[in-house]
Amino acid sequence: MELSQPYPGVYKLRIDSREHLATLNLTPGISVYGERRVTINGDEYRIWNPYRNKLAAALLKGLSEMPIRPGCRILYLGTATGTNCSHVSDIVGVEGHVWGVDIAPRPMRDFLERVARHRSNVSPILGDARRPEAYSALIPLVDVIYADVAQPDQASIVIRNARLFLKPGGWALMAIKSRSIDVTRPPEEVYEEQIGELKASGFTVLEVVELEPYERDHAMALARYQP
Ligand code: SAM
Repeated sequence: MELSQPYPGVYKLRIDSREHLATLNLTPGISVYGERRVTINGDEYRIWNPYRNKLAAALLKGLSEMPIRPGCRILYLGTATGTNCSHVSDIVGVEGHVWGVDIAPRPMRDFLERVARHRSNVSPILGDARRPEAYSALIPLVDVIYADVAQPDQASIVIRNARLFLKPGGWALMAIKSRSIDVTRPPEEVYEEQIGELKASGFTVLEVVELEPYERDHAMALARYQP
């Protein structure tokens, strides 16, 4: 088994001639969603499947910067049950923190049980990301906003949250699901429109990575906030 670290806090494991992305398990012995765990030299890693985790897919598709690093503060919009958010918690580690927002009570319950209960670096927030004022007292300035709410107004949601919580020079990673925005238009047109909104509101968009073959009609936008 070979182990390398392509980005701080993100690992590549070669097992039986196949490469896998992985994160160092902050809670050894605990799986979040049935993911495979592998122990190397006494450290336990969780395999980060790109077919289930858009951030892992974006890294494998060549995202040039990985702003989520050990020690970072992250506002995560759209945690669902916490599949990908748990890997973000692994990456930022005990020196960092993740505030995870979701509007739906059912996945939030699973997120609490499977992720937040075991991880001191995760704070769950049941709330509407369109109304960040409602949770503004709970969150400090953050280094990165990660957004995956699969809503047609996702860019505007990111902008509203950035104005309250994103430090100047901070980053946004925004997963764009073109079909949840407009099924009738080509994905590229939808991506352009969302990116245009970010650009008009103080963001410099560095790149947009399409997530095929891991996720159809999805892209990940990486943007820097310089208001
Ligand atoms: N990021 C998750 C992962 O990779 O494991 C998947 C997120 S899923 C595609 C989208 C989530 O966004 C859903 O759980 C949904 O409840 C949540 N969501 C939708 N609209 C929202 C809103 N206005 N505020 C907060 N969460 C919202």
